[in-house]
Amino acid sequence: MTNLAAALAESARAHGDRIAVRQDDTVLTYTQLDDDAARVAALLREKGVRPGDRVALVMPNVTLFPVAYYGILRAGCVVVPMNPLLKSREVAHTLRDSGSRIVLASPLFAAEVTGAAADTGVECLVTDAEFDTLLRAAEPLTEVAARADDDTAVILYTSGTTGTPKGAELTHRNLSTNAVTTVETLIRIGPDDVLFGGLPLFHAFGQTCALNAAVAAGAALTLLPRFEPATALRTLHRDRVTVFLGVPTMYTALLSAGVPEDHDLSGLRLAVSGGASLPVEVLHGFERDFGVTVLEGYGLSETSPVAVFNPPDRPRKAGSIGVPIRGVEAGLVAEDGTAVTPGEVGEIVIRGENVMKGYRNRPEATAEAVRDGWFHTGDLARVDEDGYYFIVDRKKDLIIRGGYNVYPREIEEVLYEHPAVAEAAVVGVPHDVHGEEIAAVVALRNGAEATADDIRHFVRERVAAYKYPRIVTLTDTLPKGATGKILKREIVVGERTATGRN
Ligand code: AMP
Repeated sequence: MTNLAAALAESARAHGDRIAVRQDDTVLTYTQLDDDAARVAALLREKGVRPGDRVALVMPNVTLFPVAYYGILRAGCVVVPMNPLLKSREVAHTLRDSGSRIVLASPLFAAEVTGAAADTGVECLVTDAEFDTLLRAAEPLTEVAARADDDTAVILYTSGTTGTPKGAELTHRNLSTNAVTTVETLIRIGPDDVLFGGLPLFHAFGQTCALNAAVAAGAALTLLPRFEPATALRTLHRDRVTVFLGVPTMYTALLSAGVPEDHDLSGLRLAVSGGASLPVEVLHGFERDFGVTVLEGYGLSETSPVAVFNPPDRPRKAGSIGVPIRGVEAGLVAEDGTAVTPGEVGEIVIRGENVMKGYRNRPEATAEAVRDGWFHTGDLARVDEDGYYFIVDRKKDLIIRGGYNVYPREIEEVLYEHPAVAEAAVVGVPHDVHGEEIAAVVALRNGAEATADDIRHFVRERVAAYKYPRIVTLTDTLPKGATGKILKREIVVGERTATGRN
C-alpha cells in the first residue's frame, strides 16, 4: 500500500486511541486526525476540487498542518506545501507554477497569501475560526480516493542544484517507501515512540522522517511551530520525546543551551541529523551531554528525501552520512559522467524508488538532473572501503584559490574544534590575484572570548597554507534558511558577497 492517506486510515484502525500529533495542549489521536482529514477532504470536494488537482498549504507546524495535508491527499489531490515566510511574489510564483486550485493559509501568514491568491485567481481559504466551524459542520469523506503508485502526491519547491525554485514532483510510492524504510530500517520507529517535530513540515526532512514516518508507525509526533532551544528542551522533557530529529544548527543551539537540571531527557533513545553536514565536534558533544547516539543521514527534496544513512545495524561512523538505504543505489561520478576511482572525490548520483518523477513542467531541467534514472545531486563525496560516504562539499561551494581546490567543509570542521566557536561558515570571495579568497564567518559561544586573529591562527596551525581563511569575520549570528541550514549565499564579507559556482 503506497497511498499516503490510506496509511493514515490504517493507523487510525490499528492505533485509534493513541496520540498522533500534539502541539502544546492541543492533542489529536489517530482517530481524530483521520476524521478531521476526512472533513478537510469533504470541504475540498464541496469546493469542486477533483482528484489530481493541486492544493497549496501555507502553515507552520501546528496540528492543522497534518490535518490539512492528509485531507488534501484523502481527496486524491496533490499537496503543495510552502514555507510560511515566503513573500507575496514568491507565493504567487508557486501558486502559478503548480497550477494550484485552492490555497489553505494559517491566519498568521494570510496577509502575503491572500494578495498572491488574488493576483493569480486562486481561491484562498484562511484557516480561522470560521474555517473551523465549516470543518466541524462538514460530513467526513468516508472513502480515501484511489491513487496509482506513480501519481504525484506532493510537489516540493526547491532551488535544486541550480537556479530558481522548481517543483519536485514526488509520488505516493516515492514518499511512502521512504517513510516505511525510515520506520523499518533506519530509525526503527514503533507505536510507543514520540518523535520531535521541530523540523518544518513543509520541507522534505520533516515531512517524511517526522510526519509520514510517525503515521506509518502509529507513533506520536510533537510539533513546535518555531524552533527555539529553551522551548525545544522543555518539549523533549514534557512530552518524553524518544527520537530527536534536527538539522546541525539545532544541534549547536541545543548544545550551547545545555540541559537544564530539572529536565529529564532519559526517554530520548536516538537523535538523527540531516540536511547539512554535522560537524564531528558537535556530534560528539551532543552524544556526551544528551546521552544519546546521533545518526547522520543525507538526502534532498528530489529524493523524498533520505538516500544515505548510518544504519543502526552497522557501526556508526562519525563524519560519514552512511551507506545507501534499502531500495536505493548510490555512486560517485566525475565531471564527464564516468565513475571515479575508489578513494577519489566525485558527485553523488542516486537511483531508486525515492527519486522524484521530475520537476513540474520542466523537461529540460529534469533531463539534466536525472540521466538514465540516476539523479545528479551536485554534492561531492568520497567513499571508504566499507562503502560509507563522506560528504566533501557541495559542488557549488567549492572554493578555487590560486588553482587549488579548497573544500569549505574541511575548514569548518577545524573551526568547530576551537572552544569559543558556536557556528562557522567558510565561503569564497572574489580576489584579483587568486580568483577567490577564503573567508570564515564565525559566531562565538555565549560569553566566550576570542579575536578574529586568534581564530585565523588556530586554523593556520592545523591546515595547509593555501587553505586557511585569510579573512575572519566575527558575527552574532549566521543567516539561516527555514530549516535552520546556514545560507552561504547570503553571507556578506566586508562589501563582498560569497561567490558560488552556479
Ligand atoms: P534540500 O533539498 O533542501 O533537502 O537540500 C538538499 C541538500 O542538503 C543536499 O544537496 C546537500 O547539499 C545538503 N545535505 C543534506 N544532508 C546532508 C548531510 N548529511 N551532509 C551534508 N549536506 C547535506
